[in-house]
This record gives sequence, structure tokens and C-alpha cells, in this order.
Amino acid sequence: MKDDYDVIVVGSGAAGGMTAFILAVHGVKVLMLEAGRDYDPVTETPMFQLPSDAPLRGISTPDKPFGFFDATVDGGWTVPGEPYTTSDDADDEFMWWRARMLGGRTNHWGRISLRMGPYDYKPYSRDGLGFDWPMTYEDMAPWYDKTEALIGVFGSNDGLENTPNSSPGVLQPPPAPRVHELMAQKVCQDELNIPTIASHLAILTEKQDYEKWPKELFPGNPLAQKVLRQSMMERAACFWATPCGRGCSIKANFQSTTVLLPPALATGNLTIRTDAMVREVTTDATGKATGVHYIDKRTRKDEHVSAKLVVLAASACETARIMLNSKSTLFPEGIGNGSGKVGKYLMDTVGTWVSGRIPALENMPPHNQDGASGMHLYMPWWGYQQQEKGQLDFARGYHIEFGGGRGMPSAWTFAGLGGQSGGAYGQRFKEEARRHYGTGIGFGGRGEMIPNEDCYCEIDPSGAVDEYGIPTLKFHWKWSEHETNQCRHMQHTFRDIIEGMGGEVHTEIHDDGAKAIAKPGEIIHEVGGAIMGDNPDRSVVNQYCQSHEVPNLFVTDGACFVSNADKNPTLSIMAIAWRASDYIVEQMNQGAFT
Ligand SMILES: Cc1cc2nc3c(=O)[nH]c(=O)nc-3n(C[C@H](O)[C@H](O)[C@H](O)COP(=O)(O)OP(=O)(O)OC[C@H]3O[C@@H](n4cnc5c(N)ncnc54)[C@H](O)[C@@H]3O)c2cc1C
Ligand code: SF4
Repeated sequence: MKDDYDVIVVGSGAAGGMTAFILAVHGVKVLMLEAGRDYDPVTETPMFQLPSDAPLRGISTPDKPFGFFDATVDGGWTVPGEPYTTSDDADDEFMWWRARMLGGRTNHWGRISLRMGPYDYKPYSRDGLGFDWPMTYEDMAPWYDKTEALIGVFGSNDGLENTPNSSPGVLQPPPAPRVHELMAQKVCQDELNIPTIASHLAILTEKQDYEKWPKELFPGNPLAQKVLRQSMMERAACFWATPCGRGCSIKANFQSTTVLLPPALATGNLTIRTDAMVREVTTDATGKATGVHYIDKRTRKDEHVSAKLVVLAASACETARIMLNSKSTLFPEGIGNGSGKVGKYLMDTVGTWVSGRIPALENMPPHNQDGASGMHLYMPWWGYQQQEKGQLDFARGYHIEFGGGRGMPSAWTFAGLGGQSGGAYGQRFKEEARRHYGTGIGFGGRGEMIPNEDCYCEIDPSGAVDEYGIPTLKFHWKWSEHETNQCRHMQHTFRDIIEGMGGEVHTEIHDDGAKAIAKPGEIIHEVGGAIMGDNPDRSVVNQYCQSHEVPNLFVTDGACFVSNADKNPTLSIMAIAWRASDYIVEQMNQGAFT
């Protein structure tokens, strides 16, 4: 097979999809290698199936933890044939969600798309903990605007501290809040001083302006304008009736497979090879990356493919794994790992939940509240000033996500009704179901953790390999008091909100945050492992995601994250990947990477 690619991109999710799209529209010949199978949401998404069409009414099972119709194929909390371990002295088992499919986890993510703010890029300068990013929010702002406009994000500009506004006209209008959301907003704003604003989700509330955006996003680039115009024309606005986690055949929500890969393929500059499990980046005698080895999962053969430049975008931990497995005389500890920081400073989001019931919502007239598959309002972190004055016993903030209302009933909807209805059955049980339907509410915290030396992954010293013979990862983890104290604060806050709404709390409220904190990895926002920085002794890549040691190796996924702000990471992953891709194009145009 002749290799005439400029760039190999490993992975096809948020990071790989964005990288391949930007490179391809600029005329770069890209080969994308994806470990999972081919996947097309337009034909495969079970969008209109009812819970009654699924076994056990679609309830979670070990092989389908997010329900029978969830879009994830060949993945989940475990991937058959691809094990990993957690060290015995870790605080808890590391949970690692992987999706082995074209588009990766973007096929079923929650689409919550929040910008990191000015404080989030310089956390060390503010409180002396963790590290600063090598760039500022102001450096990143244009790429946030571009990413939001490209993928389509709804939300509002509220001018709140460290919750940046988008440029005028970038955000799509948010959908109207629902009753339980308005009730929570009233309590939060009137009694608890917690701002409650429109959520930001990567879902189209109206058709994208396919005449305006292609020209604004890619001035002077007719190829980019042509493919993007076509792609935007093919996307419809949401009709608010089907669960986004199954995927969206009308392309209203963001999936790499509907928004990035089709226009990238339409350029003629992208080739995608699925079922290609990359195991190693190869280098020449000078230390330059020459290509990658991958296992063709269909033939089980080890193949090699060459290119001028390699981009790793396999998701944070997989990227660290590939780097650590890429050993050579020049790189005995793994490619680009002279600093010893590959695999280090893994971070997840700090999470905990409290749920309850709001009697004021009983016996609502029949109506449906499906909408964006997620919240229409959320609460950004409000305690920056208190933290600055030293009034809180944790350093970083969290935002609140919450759910409730009268969506299409699922297998979970009437869980617990037996207890609430005092053992009613027959006609009375039906009346109780109507009375309680829509009264449940749940609040989840999404907080920032401080990177620490005890949270990392390494190649399993036991010599374990996966079914392709590739050495596997071992995870190590320790929460600090910053995270557990933050969790206690979340627990108390959520109780106060539910009680403020006149509700009853149904879950135990923990005064010890360590008892309430989600497991490491469980929030599925894992980042770090190849952090960026200006100092090659303390970081792996520079601000353009370029390896300090191997200039034609880039890491555009969450592995390069220096901190993990409370803002869900994927919008930032894509903005950073776009900026890095622009840099690659710029460098190529100046004759680099030949
Ligand atoms: C249920 C759920 C809800 C979520 N909700 C949100 C949310 O609301 N907001 C948010 O910001 N984030 C959310 N996330 C997280 C979000 O999905 C990830 O941050 C994002 O997908 C990361 O992008 P990525 O490209 O790094 O990785 P992925 O999207 O996982 O893509 C990586 C791809 O690389 C492939 N790959 C891995 N290893 C190899 C290899 N060795 N060779 C070749 N290919 C390989 C994988 O198969 C995969 O397709 C959610 C995740 C889940 C699971
Ligand atoms: S709710 Fe909207 S965006 Fe989500 S799957 Fe349904 S149509 Fe698509």
C-alpha cells in the first residue's frame, strides 16, 4: 500500500474529527486511523424506538450502562479484550469509558459545551496550586467562537465572572426552561444567591446560516466554504423529542460522524481506516516521527503506515498509552517522554449527586417536557470571591447540572413508586403513578480537581497485554481534600436547593465528601497525561500541542490539558485541536515537516 499522506490522525472523536477536518479543508492529505468500527448515525441511530421496543424496557445492563438504545457500540465501562488495572492503594477503582466506533464518544456524549474562562487558563497564578496553561483565555477566544459557530451551540451571554460571553451572533437561541427548572432558578437566585442561566449544549435550535458561516469561518478558502456549506445545509434543527444519547440522524446535535467527518471526506483529502488499532509511533535515527504501527483488527496483521507528521487524538489515556508504548533507543521511556511526564497528572471532574421529590409538581396536567436531552438551565460556579477571601476549604469551583420533569417515560421513571405510594396496586397504583410522574429531581456537581502526583497511568508493570498484544495501562489515583471538601459543599448545596423548592431529599446527605465523591473516571471527563507547557522539563507538548522533543508529533486531545476546570472539557478539546491544526497548516505552508 503506497503511503502518500501528509498527516496521520489517530482517533476520530472530538479531537481527531476536528483535527482531520481542519487539515483536510486546507488541502492536507490525512489518513485517519480509528480502532473502532465504521458507524453512520444517519442509518444506524435507533432514534424513534420506544422504550417498550427494547428488552427490559431499555433499562441499563452491564453491556449497555446508558440503556439499550445508547449509541455506544463495542465499548462502555469495559471493552472486551482490552483490559486495564487500577493499583491496590488507589482511593478507588479507575473507571474508563471507551467507545470503539467511528466518532468515538461524540456519538453519545451529553453535548454540554462550556468555555473555560480567564481564571481557568491561569489557575496557578490565582491560588498557587496546579499549573498555568501556556496560553491565555484571550488567546483561545477566537477558536471558541469558531468552534461554537461550526458545531452549533445554544446558550446565552450572561456576563458572569469567569463564564465568558461568546461573540455576538455565535450562539444559537436557548430553548425555554421547563417548570422544575424555573422553580430551581427561583430558589437559587432569590434565596441562595446562585446564578441560574441557560445551559450551553451543542444542539441546533435553528438551522445554521449556511451562507454566512462558511465564508466567515474560512475566508479565502473556496474548498472549505463549499464542503461546509453543503454540510450545514444537511443539518436540521432539533425537534426536541428523541434522546440525544442514541445519536441524531437529522444531524441536529454534534457528533464527529455527522458534523466533522462528512465535510472532511467531501474535500477528497481524508482517508479513514477503521478497525485500525494503533500501538506505536515509529521514529527514525534522528528522532523524527515516521509513522505508526497498527493492528488491522480484521486480519490481525501488524501494519505500518508513514506520513510527514503524526497527530495523536485517541482520547487522553489512550494517547498516553501509545506514547508510553513507543519506545526506542532515543526514547527509552516512550516517545516525547524525556520529561517523564507522559501519563502523569491525570484528572477527572469531581462529581456527586443528590436527588429528591418536589410535591408541588404532583398531579400536573398531562404534558410532555422532552427537549434538549439534558438541562435547559444550569448554575455556573458562584463562589470565586469567597474562595479568594479564603472563606471556603477547597480551592476550585463547580457548576450544577440538574434533571427532572415529564420526559417520555422510561424504565427508570417509576422506580421507587412502590415506596412513595404506600404499596398501592391496581387503579390506585395508576393514580399514584400519574400523581408522582414528573416530581423527581436530581442535582449533580461538576467540579475542578487539582492535578496531583498521585494520579497517573503507566504501562502495567505486570506485562499485561490486550488481545492485540499491546501492553495495557495501570491507573493510580488519590483525591485531595480540595476535591472531597468540594463534594461536601455540593451535597449541602443540593439539599438546600431541594428543600428550598419545598421538596424532600431522597438520598443520604454526606458530611464527609470522601463518602459521596464519584469514582475516578466516572464522570468521563478524563484529561491530562501529556500536559502542555513552556518548560520541556515539566511538560510534554507546547501550546500548539506539539511535542517538545519530536516536532512532527502532536497531541490534540484532552491529554494536553494542564488543568480540568469545572467546565466539561469537549468544547475546549475541539477549540484547542482547531488552533493546533491551524498552526500545523501554517508551519507546513512555511516548509516545515518535509
Ligand atoms: C455518556 C457521556 C457523556 C458525556 N457528556 C459530555 C458533555 O456533556 N460535555 C463534555 O464536554 N464532555 C462529555 N463527555 C466526554 C466527551 O465524550 C469526551 O471528552 C470527548 O469525546 C473526548 O474526545 P476525544 O476525541 O479525546 O475522545 P473520543 O471521543 O473517545 O475519541 C477517541 C477515539 O479514538 C479511538 N482510539 C482509541 N485508541 C486508539 C488506538 N490505539 N488506535 C486508533 N484509534 C484509537 C477510539 O476508538 C475513539 O473513537 C461525555 C462522555 C460520555 C461517555
Ligand atoms: S433531541 Fe434534537 S438533537 Fe437530540 S436526537 Fe432528538 S432531534 Fe436530535
